[in-house]
Amino acid sequence: MDQLSVKTGKRQELMDITEETQQYISNNGYDHGIITIYCPHTTAALTINEGADPSVGRDILVSLEKLIPHRGDYRHTEGNSDAHIKTSLVGPSVQVIVEEGRLMLGTWQKIFFAEFDGPRTRKVWIKWIEG
Ligand code: ZN
Repeated sequence: MDQLSVKTGKRQELMDITEETQQYISNNGYDHGIITIYCPHTTAALTINEGADPSVGRDILVSLEKLIPHRGDYRHTEGNSDAHIKTSLVGPSVQVIVEEGRLMLGTWQKIFFAEFDGPRTRKVWIKWIEG
């Protein structure tokens, strides 16, 4: 297992980490297999979605905020319950097939680190499975 560091700049944002992930694969000389990317945090997540139009990421964040506002009927005293709930909905990990050293993503797909309680320096764990 390896670890990447992600520095987020806002309370909530989607950061494109596709290039870093591809770079990791290339630097290690990986060819054919599956890469798992895992977020070991309770207020940040990982997802794959459209990266061509930045409005998509904006719409995802705005819609999540409408569904799960920052201030609401929460009992968790840290004041970040919305971030915990959004993290559970989005999920902790993504898996991508790698062929000939390239991430097999759809034309419009990018890998996003979803920050819900930043800005912070976050960890992402990466596990390579050859095959
Ligand atoms: Zn909390």
